[in-house]
Amino acid sequence: MSDLNVRVQRDRPVCPYCKAAVEGGDVWLCPACFAQHHAECHHEHVACATCGHGRPAAAAAATASPPAEHAGLLAAVDDPTSNAVTTIGLLLISGVFALVLGAMLLAVVTLARGG
Ligand SMILES: [Zn+2]
Ligand SMILES: [Zn+2]
Repeated sequence: MSDLNVRVQRDRPVCPYCKAAVEGGDVWLCPACFAQHHAECHHEHVACATCGHGRPAAAAAATASPPAEHAGLLAAVDDPTSNAVTTIGLLLISGVFALVLGAMLLAVVTLARGG
């Protein structure tokens, strides 16, 4: 099994990007892992499809930064909202509490006067 694989790989190098055999034509050899790509595939993928060698730093940063930025924005938007909701809830609770307390006091006073 491994013999066959080795022989196939040696005789017919397979482009890791399109999985097709690399035979003749323009070939791009990865300097890091020596994977052979079709020149077209390398032009399309830019980086090595096997080890990622040659990936432009700008592209890597572009793919990495937007989610973090979004998360930061979401967190910044989320926090004040939840704080406001908590404040409103506390105000409502204290307001209801004051109302109930006032009603109870009024009832007590009324009962005392009546009795
Ligand atoms: Zn290819
Ligand atoms: Zn490579």
